[in-house]
Amino acid sequence: MQQVVTRCAPSPSGFLHIGGARTALFNKLFAKHFGGLFLLRIEDTDRKRTFNEAIDGILQDLSWLGLDWDQDPVYQSQNIARHKEVALKLLKEGYAYRCFSSSEELAELKQKQISLGLPLRYDGRWRDKKAEDEPKNTKYVIRLKAPQEGETIIDDIVQGKITTKNTELDDMILLRSDGTPTYMLSAVIDDHDMGITHVIRGDDHLTNAFRQLLIFKALDWVPPTYGHIPLIHGPDGAKLSKRHGAIGADKFRSMGFLPIAIRNYLLRLGWAHGNEEIISDKQAIEWFNGTGIGKSPSRFDLDKMSSLNSYYIKNMKNTDLVDLIIPILLSSETSSINNKVRKKLIQGMDSLKERSKNLVELAENSKVYLPSESLQYSEKAKNIIISEGINTLELILPNLEKIKHWNSESLEEWARSYAKNKDIKLGQLAQPLRASLTGSTQSPPIFEVMEIFGQKDVIDRIKKCIETFKFNEIE
Ligand code: GLU
Repeated sequence: MQQVVTRCAPSPSGFLHIGGARTALFNKLFAKHFGGLFLLRIEDTDRKRTFNEAIDGILQDLSWLGLDWDQDPVYQSQNIARHKEVALKLLKEGYAYRCFSSSEELAELKQKQISLGLPLRYDGRWRDKKAEDEPKNTKYVIRLKAPQEGETIIDDIVQGKITTKNTELDDMILLRSDGTPTYMLSAVIDDHDMGITHVIRGDDHLTNAFRQLLIFKALDWVPPTYGHIPLIHGPDGAKLSKRHGAIGADKFRSMGFLPIAIRNYLLRLGWAHGNEEIISDKQAIEWFNGTGIGKSPSRFDLDKMSSLNSYYIKNMKNTDLVDLIIPILLSSETSSINNKVRKKLIQGMDSLKERSKNLVELAENSKVYLPSESLQYSEKAKNIIISEGINTLELILPNLEKIKHWNSESLEEWARSYAKNKDIKLGQLAQPLRASLTGSTQSPPIFEVMEIFGQKDVIDRIKKCIETFKFNEIE
């Protein structure tokens, strides 16, 4: 069997959106399922709408999402000479012709068709002209001499067999009057030259596929097999757009999503394998063979993607999570993170990851393990300390200094018996402890926090807290 080669072909007129990421994912999985290649082509021929930052952004986002491609990316702009050469070959062989219609003339034709309620198509007025009828020194475009009879059929992996009458396809422009190739021509030539065997893309390209097939036919090249996937819609059922908020891959990164969660979510957006929800990369490659892609648009659901994200966070190794949150912590904290702090973060991860839906939340909740210099007391915490807590803290300090086995179990045991002896609720002890140690009224289980802080740090923090707030109390 011929090696399967797929591609993703973003136009760098903007960022990589979630739809483009899903297209890349499907193409990559399909190629890998068949042991083939997944290539990247940047469609940057439209210089006016192409920004270098957009190209860099797309490459970064694809890599970050784990959608790395095989071989060097192909930049379409570097193939323009080749595209022109092929257009001229088609012209020479009679599969294309020069069209000298001015833009005014074409506008007039369009108006006429509108007023008569006809489809808007070029009418082929230069199609059969002889060379001697062609004007000199006049700008022209090169158009494909498309068949006027018969039909063009696409056997689409997703949509099935679709037929269009050739009378519905006009003689499309291949080369503009400034000598630049159109998308339609460039895409065909590059797909051929890159050896693309399968093109999976949004169904907004379905009409392009018919036209592209005509160019393949004129060139006597074997076209790729197409698969046109329904577009992603927003929760309101309308086509997903910027109006729906964050749809750029980079936004999801700053929102603390894990690439694996995004991949898993996008995979399930328009494709199913039974009722499987959690799908590893390995399984995805094993199962994604082009069947199971839905024909109706799927709706983007941020909550669903968030719950997958929580799932993957919970199941990730603590050390890996810490490596991911350190850059987030460093971007908001001035302190550097040394090995001691890193170790505390790793120890704390077991319960921190249970409580965080994304990496941003995880980083925020992890701040409890940063060195005490950065400790700040919230208003609620201050109130607890000032109202009653300070007495409790002063009373328990000598007890804490005596504790021999400093771990969460024995600390909890001690706290329970202390509370019982003093006839107070556990919360009346745990709350001031939490407030003084973490500066907050919310934290991971406090005895676990105490174990991770270590005895000396706990005692130092309580002493400092008493020192800070004793004055307030007297006042
Ligand atoms: N550059 C096109 C886009 O970004 C894709 C063209 C194609 O897949 O053939 O929509």
